[in-house]
Amino acid sequence: MAKPTGNRLLDAISARFREQILSSSKHVALPVRTQLYWPDEMPQYCHFLTGGIASIVAGLDNGASTEVGLMGNEGVVGAFHIIGPIAPANECFMQVPGSGYRVPLPVLRECFKAEEEIRDRVLELVQVQSLGLSQVAACNKLHESEPRLARWLLMIRDRVDSDTIQITQEFLGQMIGSRRTTVNGILSIMERKGLLHHQRGKITISDRRHFEKAACNCYPLLRRSLDRLYEPDRTPPEASRLSTKPSLHIAGSAVRPKCHNN
Ligand SMILES: [Zn+2]
Repeated sequence: MAKPTGNRLLDAISARFREQILSSSKHVALPVRTQLYWPDEMPQYCHFLTGGIASIVAGLDNGASTEVGLMGNEGVVGAFHIIGPIAPANECFMQVPGSGYRVPLPVLRECFKAEEEIRDRVLELVQVQSLGLSQVAACNKLHESEPRLARWLLMIRDRVDSDTIQITQEFLGQMIGSRRTTVNGILSIMERKGLLHHQRGKITISDRRHFEKAACNCYPLLRRSLDRLYEPDRTPPEASRLSTKPSLHIAGSAVRPKCHNN
């Protein structure tokens, strides 16, 4: 049995395809602020994170920015770019340092075109991401700063699997679209309520169950949609679903896609 990679999407697909994707990949360290893609530029690579968290951040022409999505080890950073040719409007960078498998985008595109299993998985992930983006957009507009910040911290907590989160207030403000002083005020209120402790560059959630009640209802909605992707009773597609298409080539590219049957 193939060893788990630590990425839930890679580990959920058939071992055959996982090995083929990994054979075109490079495992890389991803320090904080590593840029995974830029606005208006089609990325060369996708990243299957095995640790850390990437933020998708929307910027406005007045210099303000806010996080509109995030990705940990539950999927692939760049799934949107696998399915079509439109360059991203947002940027994406590591907000919690980690590591991951870097795979050339053309390789994944050819896998997506050639193999139903890969296509299904990527489309499901994109669907969940799209639902998440619209929920976060509504949350940023309609929910108060405190429940919004609690929602965000829980989403990070789930991905780092720790009650302690290393983050500066300035960065936190950027992520939820609030000023650092606003963030500081909210954290102080939450600390007085016994929900968390915060000190320079570090926030510790005191009581997870109590804390969940402080978050807006976007948190359980977002968590449920993600959990459905990897429900334990979901069986991997059978070998009979594998494509019998011949090998594909990418015109003008040195990259040879490997998702094919011999
Ligand atoms: Zn919300």
